[in-house]
Amino acid sequence: MSTRPVNPVTGLDFTPAVGDMPFTPLQREWLAKAHVLGRDKFAARAAQWDKEASFPFANYDDLREQGFLKLCVPVEFGGAGADFPTYMMVAAEIGRFCGATALTWNMHICSTMWTGVLADGIAMSDEQRAEHAARRKLHFARIVNEGKLYAQPFSEGTAAAAGRAPFGTTAKKVEGGWLINGRKIWASLSGAADYYGVLCTEDKGDHHPDARDTLYISVPATAEGFSISGDWDPLGMRGTVSRNLTFKDVFVSDDEQLMPRGIYFKGAQTWPAMFFTLSPTYLGVANAAYDFTVQYLRGEVPGEPPIKRRQFPTKQITVAQMRLQLEAMKSLFTRAIFEAKPNPSKDEKLRLYAAHHAVMEGANDLARLAIRTCGGQSMLKHLPLERLYRDSRCGALMLPWTAELILDRMGRETLYEPGERDE
Ligand SMILES: Cc1cc2nc3c(=O)[nH]c(=O)nc-3n(C[C@H](O)[C@H](O)[C@H](O)COP(=O)(O)OP(=O)(O)OC[C@H]3O[C@@H](n4cnc5c(N)ncnc54)[C@H](O)[C@@H]3O)c2cc1C
Repeated sequence: MSTRPVNPVTGLDFTPAVGDMPFTPLQREWLAKAHVLGRDKFAARAAQWDKEASFPFANYDDLREQGFLKLCVPVEFGGAGADFPTYMMVAAEIGRFCGATALTWNMHICSTMWTGVLADGIAMSDEQRAEHAARRKLHFARIVNEGKLYAQPFSEGTAAAAGRAPFGTTAKKVEGGWLINGRKIWASLSGAADYYGVLCTEDKGDHHPDARDTLYISVPATAEGFSISGDWDPLGMRGTVSRNLTFKDVFVSDDEQLMPRGIYFKGAQTWPAMFFTLSPTYLGVANAAYDFTVQYLRGEVPGEPPIKRRQFPTKQITVAQMRLQLEAMKSLFTRAIFEAKPNPSKDEKLRLYAAHHAVMEGANDLARLAIRTCGGQSMLKHLPLERLYRDSRCGALMLPWTAELILDRMGRETLYEPGERDE
């Protein structure tokens, strides 16, 4: 039992990574669960996954047991029915204690959100809606009843993951299902997932692949012709175990189609915030760097000598700078999660990009400042700061919204209206 006072506005006895605000009962419940799980279990285990570059299976046992795998499965299918803002808040709280767990959990959650609340906001014909309703029922049942885990491989090392070319992985229609061929890189949860939600292009045999023909299909980990390869020894987010996948004439049944034909492409255009789901992990990491800095400068890190460093004005100024940046990140993040919807206005979309960029670049800035002001001893391996620093570097590299591509989009979409061209 906690002895800390409960904030009357939030109903919580801690300040979540997203900040204090009047949460709904569902948000409060899941934020509290995430905080306790992260603080009591994930934080202590994070060094192990990082050191070994191994998948956090023990964390997933806890997540599964406590219902986190079905957080965004709609209530009528047995899930908790969390909406977009609720997921984003809870993910940030998990990221505060283990970045790799939050990031991989995001990949799984996307498979439920894209087919759930996001798909509900995409225009479909009656026939497509009926097809989707039947298929997602099977998909949700696997998660709700069997605790199955989904990965989200879309990267291929080409312009496809940036949304600038069709995916090179193909799906050819055959009797009763699809034949998948191709290769994915950077597939988080490789070797841990039960299903891989693959983005691929329908092979219509006409040699003119079109991004409008993108299919979203799940491949069971046990499918014949499916294999995982490649080394895994990256700088950060080492627990994601994001190796390469190969699909060689992999047959999957029609039921594995996670969205009807043509709907993924529409979805990506209708719901730009679907790519924003990568950012809460890094908001969590930024909070962790800030929390550590305050604790360290106050001489309160458990197991460390109680040396105070807070009396130096330079430290005070750096903490103030970190707080300024963290508050700015949280404010933008919070506004963007509540504004997320199908067909946002131009202003909302630009703010969404700004929020994503602020979090992805800001997390690394905060971790950099944390190490600079805490000093040499703070970056020794037995403390979490150097891991946070390495993990924080990864966010801005993630497609389709890398920091560079966000700037590219923001500049272009500010100066050009849709369809406008220079002569
Ligand atoms: C920790 C982590 C986990 C990941 N997990 C997954 C996962 O589960 N599933 C998955 O699919 N992917 C995942 N990724 C991959 C990620 O989304 C990117 O695809 C990957 O980092 C891109 O690396 P690359 O070297 O192939 O980038 P490249 O495509 O070589 O791009 C390099 C840089 O060039 C810029 N760039 C790229 N394309 C363009 C363009 N058309 N125009 C202008 N600039 C461009 C971008 O800023 C990019 O950062 C993960 C990445 C990380 C770091």
